[in-house]
Amino acid sequence: MGTPQAVTPAPLTRADRCDRCSAAALVRAVLPVGELLFCGHHARAFRAGLAEAGAVIVPG
Ligand SMILES: [Zn+2]
Repeated sequence: MGTPQAVTPAPLTRADRCDRCSAAALVRAVLPVGELLFCGHHARAFRAGLAEAGAVIVPG
């Protein structure tokens, strides 16, 4: 019994950019292999695919 791995990502800032365009990142997609940042538009565009990949969408 260990301490559960708590994911405590730093809040997104204006310096964080969408991985698909240059817009400011609004959400974080946490995947088993890493994480991606998306703007609102791309978060919606990729939501289904991200869910299939097991991503957890975290509003920043
Ligand atoms: Zn974008």
